Amino acid sequence: MSKVLLHICCGPCAISCVEALRQAGFETEGFFYNPNIHPFSEYLKRYEAVIAAGDRMRLSVIYHKYDFEKFLREVSCIENRQEQHRFCWRIRLEETARMAREKEIENFTTTLLSSPYQDIGQIKVLGAEVAAKYGLSFLPEDFRRGFAESHKRSKEWQLYHQNYCGCVYSEKESIEQREKKRKV
Ligand code: SF4
Repeated sequence: MSKVLLHICCGPCAISCVEALRQAGFETEGFFYNPNIHPFSEYLKRYEAVIAAGDRMRLSVIYHKYDFEKFLREVSCIENRQEQHRFCWRIRLEETARMAREKEIENFTTTLLSSPYQDIGQIKVLGAEVAAKYGLSFLPEDFRRGFAESHKRSKEWQLYHQNYCGCVYSEKESIEQREKKRKV
């Protein structure tokens, strides 16, 4: 059976991705690496939701370092928001590929491909670039079909649902948007 290392951004998104990969015949292992999530209290909520989802699905998950200092240092030198996103996707895909190679898992992919809020096209391109660099296969699955069902199930399981992407910039944007809507 072919193996895949699945980068997991959060518990709710993981559900349908794990099911789709298992249905496609992959032995699936999770990888939680998200130094982009701020503040630490928010990181812990998402981390605990992944533990809960992993238990429900009997999924083995590797919980990797939270090197947010490095993330902040590097992302704060990038002024363009699009470039920040690309940096943020790339470092998580690279770390997943590094871990997959270390564990001799030939394929990797990410739950980011399930999100209607992320640029799936760019993530697929980055995934392919990273895969070529590490001599692995990136699975460019379109997990978005399962997004609604995944989030419905995660509510039944009472998993934590975030209301911003992850970094402090996205938290500010999300609060500003909510404020704007409230005033209309
Ligand atoms: S908005 Fe999301 S993808 Fe973009 S830099 Fe922040 S955490 Fe990363």
